[in-house]
Amino acid sequence: MMKGTIRITRLGSKLAARRGFSTTSRQLDNYAFIGLGQMGFQMARNLQSKLSPNDRVRLFDINTAAAEQLAHEMKTSQAGGAAVELAKSAADAAKESDVTITCLPEPQHVRSAYTELLSPGLPARPRPSLFIDCSTIDPSSSREVAALVEQAGGVFVDAPMSGGVVGATAGTLTFMLGAPDSLVSRVEPILLRMGRRVLHCGAQGAGLSAKLANNYLLAINNIATAEAMNLGVKWGLDPKVLAGVINVSTGKCWPSEVNNPVPGVVETAPASRDYKGGFGIGLMKKDLKLAMIAAQEAGARLELAPKAKDVYEDAEEEEQCRGRDFSVVYRYLGGQE
Ligand code: NAD
Repeated sequence: MMKGTIRITRLGSKLAARRGFSTTSRQLDNYAFIGLGQMGFQMARNLQSKLSPNDRVRLFDINTAAAEQLAHEMKTSQAGGAAVELAKSAADAAKESDVTITCLPEPQHVRSAYTELLSPGLPARPRPSLFIDCSTIDPSSSREVAALVEQAGGVFVDAPMSGGVVGATAGTLTFMLGAPDSLVSRVEPILLRMGRRVLHCGAQGAGLSAKLANNYLLAINNIATAEAMNLGVKWGLDPKVLAGVINVSTGKCWPSEVNNPVPGVVETAPASRDYKGGFGIGLMKKDLKLAMIAAQEAGARLELAPKAKDVYEDAEEEEQCRGRDFSVVYRYLGGQE
């Protein structure tokens, strides 16, 4: 091969095609990743390791220790990947980026990070800077932030995810994308570096609506499963027998089949390891509240939501339940372990 010739592998050319640039004039892609907590830390690591050394990722978290640790891990990793830089602020991270990904806890954090990073204005570029927010927030707040980004000349999509920390670490997340059709081909390959599935749910905000509707159902199913299992056990049924009946019958749901709340029924479920790991009761409470806000705005009645909220709040007050997987509601109900 002649010196200086770029050898294009089939995968490389596919990726290049997905990225939307010519394989003969390979250009640098600048990424910013803001919010390096339980999810963002792992997602940023997967993204960086799958990018080319010609690309660059700038990292920022208000917790500087998290950003420093991640930068160190990336720089010393055998996986190679994009160049890594630490940024001093959200604005510093995003100032030259083609793509900025945010993964922040709640609506107020997303609003404040975007207000800050947009404050210096966005540089003019051939195609607008892309902002992907993976935080779980309410659709109205997300639309407000999208409008700010658009005013500044950028484009903003919502891509909340499911799969938890395990999925973020393994790069197997599912993203629910809210974006105009015209942006899907630009966003999808980026998300697929951190996950395995991208479900385009509709226009901006639709990813969050889908995520919150799903998690509302999950919040209710989880309590109902814990109650039904507790009921059966109190009636003298073997919990494995009862779960076996439910899981081939009409009560079957994810909490009964995969995340059964009774210890020992599903060996891999958090209930079988003292409810440790899994989806924290605090996060379930947060998503339920966001669903209730969004439901009120849309004029949709949620009869069960207030009671479910009380259950999660009361459970979290108890030392034996606090910080554990949300299936710990079974313990809160006094279920036999
Ligand atoms: P986390 O609290 O572990 O991490 C959030 C990070 O954001 C922290 O490191 C914090 O320091 C940083 N941060 C806060 N404000 C900031 C700001 N203004 N600028 C820069 N950084 C800032 O949260 P997480 O578990 O990683 O979750 C992130 C989002 O993903 C949440 O919206 C959550 O609901 C959602 N989510 C979490 C899970 C899960 O299992 N943890 C699963 C699906 C979705």
